[in-house]
Amino acid sequence: MTATAKADNLIEVHDRAALATARALLDSCANPQAMGAAITAAVARNARWRGEECINLLAPEAPTSPAVRALLSAEIGTRAAEGHIGPVNRWFAGTRHIDEVEALCIELLKRYFRCNYADHRMCASMIGNAVVYTALSSPGDVIMTAAQPVGGHSSNRLDGPAGAMGRKIVDIPFDPHELVVDIETFRKAAPLVRPRLVALGLSMTLFPQPVSEMKAIISDWGGRLFFDAAHQLGLIGGKQFQDPLKEGADIMTGSAGKTFSGPQSGIIVWDDPEITEAVTTAVFPVWAATHQVNRVAALALATAEAIAFGEAFMAQIVKNARALAAALDARGLPMLGRHKGFTTTHQAIADVRRYGRGLACAQTLERANIIVNKNLLPSDAPADWNTPGGLRIGTIEVTRNGMKEREMEAIADMIARVVVRRERPETVKNDALALRSGFRQLYYCFENGLPA
Ligand SMILES: *Cc1c(COP(=O)(O)O)cnc(C)c1O
Repeated sequence: MTATAKADNLIEVHDRAALATARALLDSCANPQAMGAAITAAVARNARWRGEECINLLAPEAPTSPAVRALLSAEIGTRAAEGHIGPVNRWFAGTRHIDEVEALCIELLKRYFRCNYADHRMCASMIGNAVVYTALSSPGDVIMTAAQPVGGHSSNRLDGPAGAMGRKIVDIPFDPHELVVDIETFRKAAPLVRPRLVALGLSMTLFPQPVSEMKAIISDWGGRLFFDAAHQLGLIGGKQFQDPLKEGADIMTGSAGKTFSGPQSGIIVWDDPEITEAVTTAVFPVWAATHQVNRVAALALATAEAIAFGEAFMAQIVKNARALAAALDARGLPMLGRHKGFTTTHQAIADVRRYGRGLACAQTLERANIIVNKNLLPSDAPADWNTPGGLRIGTIEVTRNGMKEREMEAIADMIARVVVRRERPETVKNDALALRSGFRQLYYCFENGLPA
């Protein structure tokens, strides 16, 4: 059997056509060096298309500043540094400058998040959530988390680390119209199952949640509140969203590559000395060994940028999201949360059930160089999970490129021309290219400061 015939018969989760194309490309290469060149060429195609020609509106994406990006390829990233900071704590010698960088990172994170403790060693926020489950719960414990159609994330559900580690998952009651926890139902439901941990994590996040009320309820039996701020992390540090730790959350995780706009990875912050040993030792030796010190250096620099520019950057992100949502709503896309001013975050959620649902809309918009994602809506039934009814639209990147409310009107126009008026996306693409070409610079960083 040839390699290709054999591959064609294997069970496969990835797209078979994409893998077959890669095999054909490798077969056509004269030598391994040509294979290497094929990789570099694909990376360059992405940099040109996504980096220069698209209006990128994915809510979990953020461009990093030139200096942060440069640190990601620094020499320090080839060094090994397991364990906690300090010569006695490390397994390896030679870490004195790595210790400096990591200590700077922790102390910067503590300043931006105004907290007592921070950990910087998770290569993804998914891992940060696994750390929290390890530190603050045990197999068989009941955990209450939000279901996916109201914004919940797999990391806190049965199909993610929480489920894989044997935690029992009970849904947090949610008001699908207000898009917040249904606190009165929670008040009745929580004592029935007495969750050890309530994990409030929302990938679709428009409004603040009743953190202090929830904490007061679960405190009765010593339950702890875990705020998964993957998306809102930058907004929280930049004082543009509720501050979960100040409102009673015991611990908060977050993605460094979403609103925080640093290198993709995870951070954990908390105040309570009582949980420090459990959390820090769940990071190492349980969930992190070598933890990519180049990434840590980049994270530290991104945090310094956030301290300098975070408030202004995050405030404009939210203004832009509100402006974009209002402009889309006015152009015939029903937007969630209209009765509450649409959004208080970087996200705007469109209900596109009448326009062919989320996947088709996202694919058509991609042909116009406008990048968004299909998203479940609270009204989506389990049968709809593969064909979500909504679109999630985020304003992190366009804001960092210097766009403001006026450009949000222009973007809403383009989206509505494709989705509502069904114009050929290729026509709209010319306007997307034109808008994008006027916003090539990155702001809210030391190189370029604030936009004009
Ligand atoms: C994105 C997300 C995560 C995972 O974060 P990564 O940094 O991608 O690992 C966890 N929880 C929620 C709510 C998210 O939206």
